[in-house]
Amino acid sequence: MDASPALPLVNLYDLPRAALGELLGRWGYSAHYRDLLWTALYRQQVESFDALTGLKPELVAALRERTLLERPTTHHEVFSSDGYTRKLLLRLRDGQTVETVLMRFKGRATVCLSTQAGCAMGCVFCATGQMGFVRHLSPGEIIGQVLHVTRLLRETNETLRNVVLMGMGEPLHNYEGTLAAVDILVDALGLALGPRFITLSTVGVVPGIRRLADEDRPVQLAVSLHGATDAERGALVPAARKWPLAELMDACRYYTDKRKRRIFYEWALISGRNDTPEQAHALGALLQGMDAHVNLIPLNPTVGYAEQPSGPDSVRAFQDILAGYGLPSTVRQRRGIDIDAGCGQLKAAVERTRPPRQPLAS
Ligand code: SAH
Ligand code: SF4
Repeated sequence: MDASPALPLVNLYDLPRAALGELLGRWGYSAHYRDLLWTALYRQQVESFDALTGLKPELVAALRERTLLERPTTHHEVFSSDGYTRKLLLRLRDGQTVETVLMRFKGRATVCLSTQAGCAMGCVFCATGQMGFVRHLSPGEIIGQVLHVTRLLRETNETLRNVVLMGMGEPLHNYEGTLAAVDILVDALGLALGPRFITLSTVGVVPGIRRLADEDRPVQLAVSLHGATDAERGALVPAARKWPLAELMDACRYYTDKRKRRIFYEWALISGRNDTPEQAHALGALLQGMDAHVNLIPLNPTVGYAEQPSGPDSVRAFQDILAGYGLPSTVRQRRGIDIDAGCGQLKAAVERTRPPRQPLAS
């Protein structure tokens, strides 16, 4: 009889606990073994099959034969001058690289994760958007970024508190991969992150926002607006043309009504562009009466976009107008600006200084 074609090996980090249970169940192991393996992966954070010493040798042998413990490796790394931010460019199995940023501040560590290699949404000011889309990340590739930084934090006895899905890519374009990773993050037997400490930022993918509301997934939602009229927003965020503001705001209202959770709205302040009193009033009118908080981020200049960040006076004036509509806002400096910590900027900078990579053999 012909040998059956080899099945692709499963990366264990791709599987939420229920899926891991199904896999082990097919091999005849009970939920008890699933949980032993799970705690080894996410509590002890073992990095090799050899380290799975608490499991039956037959189970370890089966895992070794049919699964992988695949994590990204460091391709490039930089520290910010203030010492708080460490930015990693991590390499995935197929040679793709993605950015992961670790921020430590007053004992609270936050990691910013990528959900895709590149991004299809094409925001004109964003270094990732300027690269275009390559592919979705698997849940294991998203979780691999987390395990990479928890290993670094262990060296100094720190723990991870916040996760922001604000690195490269659009999380709701990769809904399945991203939300499977969220399930792994919040699992109480493993990494056990608090749902309030996971923020998912979307460019405004309307079907994804509605699905999040219906499924009640354990995340805080942030919506990147950047423009309060369809004309202004469409010029900065080309993908937004597919979902006009009226549709987007309907989806946001649906989300806040259904989940009773505040939405954060992000706004990159671009001098003379979307920091005008007209845009501030339009934004105020758009969000008035909603459970909303606006995060204002002075533009982080990128090589592919000539505009500049707003100055402090325009930022203050913008905030004052929002306050007149009863809207709270916070100005967020993008930390680690000196190390290209804006979304996609490190990858862009590293690739500018290196000869182009050879195409991968297929
Ligand atoms: N794709 C998602 C999440 C990743 S981007 C989204 O767009 O929301 C995370 C945030 O960084 C978004 O609000 C995005 O608009 C913002 N951003 C990207 N490039 C920026 C830049 N050059 N300056 C300021 N903010 C930027
Ligand atoms: Fe994609 Fe977000 Fe960058 Fe827009 S801002 S291109 S959605 S990563």
